[in-house]
Amino acid sequence: MTAEWTPSSWRSKPIAQDVAYPNQEKLDKVLQKISSLPPMVTPSEIERLRYQLGLVQRNEAFLLHAGDCAESFDACTHENISSKIGLILSFSLILIWGARLPVVRVGRIAGQYAKPRSSSTEVINGKEVLSFRGDNVNGLDPNDRNPDPERMLSAYFHSTTTLNYVRGLLNSGFASLHHPRDWSLNHVRSPSLRTEFDKIVEGLSDALDFSRTIGMDASASYEQGGGRGTLGEVDFYTSHEGLMLPFEEALTREFSVPSSLTHRESNFLPSRAEGQTTAARPAPSKKQFYNTGAHFLWIGDRTRQLTHAHIEYFRGIRNPIGCKVGPSMENEELIRLLDIVNPDKEPGRVTLITRYGAKKIDSHLAQHIATVQKAGHPVVWVCDPMHGNTHTAPSGLKTRSFGSIIEELTSCLRIHAACNSRLGGVSLEFTGELNDEGFSVTECVGGSMELSEDELGLRYQSFCDPRLNFEQSLDVAFLLSNHFKQ
Ligand code: PEP
Ligand code: MN
Repeated sequence: MTAEWTPSSWRSKPIAQDVAYPNQEKLDKVLQKISSLPPMVTPSEIERLRYQLGLVQRNEAFLLHAGDCAESFDACTHENISSKIGLILSFSLILIWGARLPVVRVGRIAGQYAKPRSSSTEVINGKEVLSFRGDNVNGLDPNDRNPDPERMLSAYFHSTTTLNYVRGLLNSGFASLHHPRDWSLNHVRSPSLRTEFDKIVEGLSDALDFSRTIGMDASASYEQGGGRGTLGEVDFYTSHEGLMLPFEEALTREFSVPSSLTHRESNFLPSRAEGQTTAARPAPSKKQFYNTGAHFLWIGDRTRQLTHAHIEYFRGIRNPIGCKVGPSMENEELIRLLDIVNPDKEPGRVTLITRYGAKKIDSHLAQHIATVQKAGHPVVWVCDPMHGNTHTAPSGLKTRSFGSIIEELTSCLRIHAACNSRLGGVSLEFTGELNDEGFSVTECVGGSMELSEDELGLRYQSFCDPRLNFEQSLDVAFLLSNHFKQ
């Protein structure tokens, strides 16, 4: 018999990656304040994402999960936010074109401010200091490493500011195919990338004009994979790693499950949505706990211990959740985990984000797929080709090679096909960020721009993991798009 769940029941369990705050009173005051602030996202948005992830699981949509490894308070600017959204839109458009499927977009954005670390301290200039744990916890400056609870309040406000701007952009036609130059490619120098992208935009615009001409306006939602059916409005969701449980608890609120399909939800796939959406939904009168700080939260590879605090917290929230799956995951452990977080085997509830590394995927993924299939657990399978492929360049900079990223991704596609399964999405660390002269970051090596290890120092801006830049990300998008076209 499972013990009763509450938003704070995780507190009685052992916890990995905990943060020790020196001043309990200050911590309690901040948490009290956060728990009185309004939700950032709503239950009906969360339910819509659950529904759409159910479609991904049934091969009727593709998931794009992407953004920074970690956001920072300083990078919360309108340029950075719009270039992030622009890259996500460009990437999804290329995918929609190739796969002929709607794309569910989930950004690592508006709250990705806390990081797990392999060691709690590090040595900087000969001095041992606490590791940087993300802006939610302490500062990047080695003199600012003491955890400060006020940072959680700041994370709340930076998240709401980000989200407010994202909502504003998307509601004012930023994503419209009539103005792709607002959000895409205006700085990309590669003529072949530009030509290929322009062809796609043209093709999609023609398709839309045609459907409007014959009066099939609903198919306008196909434009960006499921908007309101109004040109330029798109579905977009936020996510972060649910690492800081005191913060997550303060954002967890009880609500009745929204009773009916919203207009936008029912428009996602007009021909198939009807009558299929309420099955996985509890009766409207039933109250559920929602994490209102993001639509989607995931459990990191370092905090997924079955009897620990993170799994306890995650099992009780109604949001769709992700779990990272690395080479250390045992088959039996994976099934026990799924039994805990999804006992009723509800579609759309769990996304498994695999991140083995190009050299290890062959010895793990097929077994994991077979085990999950045998247990009859519905999951969305997503490939994270980033986190198992990090190495240090001779300069000391942490990097990833484009070749290894593509190798893991293509192996993943191949293995899913061989196992009678399907890859439902990708999880990437990328950025559309540009420097003042309009150049992309240089953090990962390779890609069509053939970035070498010597060039990494040119514009290395990440303070966490290395990200694909705009051009390298589009290279991945075209590869996937071409794969699905065949
Ligand atoms: C991440 O997604 O940034 C991360 C830390 O991943 P993982 O938990 O898979 O190492
Ligand atoms: Mn990362």
